[in-house]
Amino acid sequence: MTTERLDILSGDYQNSIKRAADILKSDGIVAVPTETVYGLAASAFSDAAILKVFEAKGRPQDNPLIVHISDMDMLKGVADDIPDIAFVCAKKFWPGPFTMVLKKSGAVADSVSPGLETVAVRMPLEKSIRDIIDCAGLPLAAPSANISGCPSPTTYTHVLNDLDGKIDAVVLGNDCKIGVESTVVSLCTDKPRLLRPGAVTLEQLKAVLPDIEVDKAILSEPENGKKVASPGMKYKHYAPKTDTFLVEGNSEKYAEFVNGRENAVAVCFAEDKPFLKVKTLVYGSANDQSALAKNVFSALRQVDQLKATAVYIHAPEKTGVGLAVYNRLIRAAAFKVISL
Ligand code: AMP
Ligand code: MG
Repeated sequence: MTTERLDILSGDYQNSIKRAADILKSDGIVAVPTETVYGLAASAFSDAAILKVFEAKGRPQDNPLIVHISDMDMLKGVADDIPDIAFVCAKKFWPGPFTMVLKKSGAVADSVSPGLETVAVRMPLEKSIRDIIDCAGLPLAAPSANISGCPSPTTYTHVLNDLDGKIDAVVLGNDCKIGVESTVVSLCTDKPRLLRPGAVTLEQLKAVLPDIEVDKAILSEPENGKKVASPGMKYKHYAPKTDTFLVEGNSEKYAEFVNGRENAVAVCFAEDKPFLKVKTLVYGSANDQSALAKNVFSALRQVDQLKATAVYIHAPEKTGVGLAVYNRLIRAAAFKVISL
């Protein structure tokens, strides 16, 4: 399959949006930029289109997709019995990097969330995906546009590296401003439950959902065979092929530890770099959590090129957006954490 390039930066924006919408309306699959990561979109009403997404990504079919909408009318078409608190959350966090798990409407294709009575819904901020949704008149189911298990894509080059030839088209847009996937909150549990941390932080959520609970799977390895609230949590994710470790400790201890390892790579903070004698990939300053989020997946994608025996990632604080970055990194490291 030839993957069409739809250039919205230096090409004709309107034509590219319309072409993307036409492909989606005829059950094709298109990679699109969002403010979080690039998504691989398909009509949320078409099992045939969604099957293509799972196939192109090699994604396990029990890992449900997020449905993207562009206005509140569309919400009513994909979810039933929407509780009042969902409208409060929508007012506060939409459009933006925030996903709500709600009761699934019968109109949504079964394969969006197979075996579940729920559907995850988000209204993104990025203009181009909203324009595509409007133009197609369809809600779009879209997981991250990467090969399942690999780091998520934050540029169209990442998308092409993983999926060129496997998808109908890619929208060539800007690099993703946030860089980690959306915050996912279930409103179908007794109390609201944070299933995945993102750029809408736990601190911000507590202002609207004071009784929110944090799912244990966010920071710990799910027990073998145990049912998890967010099926995506049980998979190894975001991982380089190089043996990966997450390292907790101050700059001095981190540098001492990593410098003592043979043929290592350090994925580190700008502040660590002067003290390191190994190859480094800086993913931002320790104090700038937004930069860490924006750069983390790019850094993970570069690790394997350095042909090291192991990679030691300096862990961020687990507050603010740092919690989201930590959550992705502990999965990249398959829960191998070294505390100094
Ligand atoms: P991705 O598509 O890669 O951004 O991953 C979507 C995430 O949302 C996965 O971790 C899923 O487990 C989670 N998710 C999607 N739909 C649901 C749902 N209906 N219930 C619980 N979690 C969901
Ligand atoms: Mg993903």
